[in-house]
Amino acid sequence: MNIDLPASLSHAYLVTGGSGEGRAALAKRLAAAYLCEGAGPVPCGACRHCRKVEAGVHPDVTVLAPLTDKKEIGVDQARALRSDAYIRPNEGKRKVYIIDPADAMNPAAQNALLKVLEDGPAYAAFLLLAAEPGRLLDTVRSRCEPLPLPPEEAPVDPELAEQAEALVELLLTGDEFAVAKGLTTLELEKPKPDRLAALLGEAENQIAKRLASHPARGVKALRALKACRENAVFNPGAGHTLGWIAASLFGEV
Ligand SMILES: [Zn+2]
Repeated sequence: MNIDLPASLSHAYLVTGGSGEGRAALAKRLAAAYLCEGAGPVPCGACRHCRKVEAGVHPDVTVLAPLTDKKEIGVDQARALRSDAYIRPNEGKRKVYIIDPADAMNPAAQNALLKVLEDGPAYAAFLLLAAEPGRLLDTVRSRCEPLPLPPEEAPVDPELAEQAEALVELLLTGDEFAVAKGLTTLELEKPKPDRLAALLGEAENQIAKRLASHPARGVKALRALKACRENAVFNPGAGHTLGWIAASLFGEV
């Protein structure tokens, strides 16, 4: 997980997206960043606080999860957390509460946390991890800074990656005739919709990485591919593909 941490840390984050492991790993890094006393960028990974957080034994980091055999985080647990937050840290400069999964809190538990989320002690920090943030009350969400993780990348099929690379090369550097010819060939292959969506998605990823060297054409190509993928404009066999992508690249749309 190489996501950059925010430069200055807020007192509450809502971590969403990615996978459960990804969210937990980010929460651990953030917890270490709050507590780190190393020199330079935090978390340093080497000071005693970082090491204790990494080992899961830092006394100022509390993980709130449903009790054994329970699906929800109940109001009693939330109240206990709230009281604990008003007791000063043991060893560190902050106290960090990781609520994982936060969307397992029932509404009463969420309500019990509102006040401490809003104006708890300055040393308290809250990390709410949620796969389904829609299950949190608006009042809870609005008190946290959103920290969405990118979707986990599935390994790309090498054949697909190669085909996408050829398509990208064409879209970024081909002249109008070459682009038209290439797209016609692709269309005549009648790829299945799933495969096509995967191909266009991979092509978008690759173009995004090459934007610096092909800014103008790259942006147009990204827009065209995304519209095709999302709106099914790219409809092999129906004749929509060619005119649309080529026209949007060469300025007629
Ligand atoms: Zn450190």
